[in-house]
Amino acid sequence: MSRSENVTSLQALQQWKAIPQQYRDKLVRNVFCGKCGGAVEIVDYSIKQEKSALLLTGKCKTCGKPVARVVENE
Ligand SMILES: [Zn+2]
Repeated sequence: MSRSENVTSLQALQQWKAIPQQYRDKLVRNVFCGKCGGAVEIVDYSIKQEKSALLLTGKCKTCGKPVARVVENE
């Protein structure tokens, strides 16, 4: 396990959990995969905090390729 690539910080997790579940479900099911060429579901993802956003990094549920999604934060 790579520390730099698969760490969900407590703070990032708290921010993620603060997002309504319904919206979170939409976000994880609407991640762009370049290989599949469209919106896919992200699985096995970790959450990182960027400056003013959350970054989800994980794998495409369909093809297993690494995918990522930025979730803008206030
Ligand atoms: Zn894919």
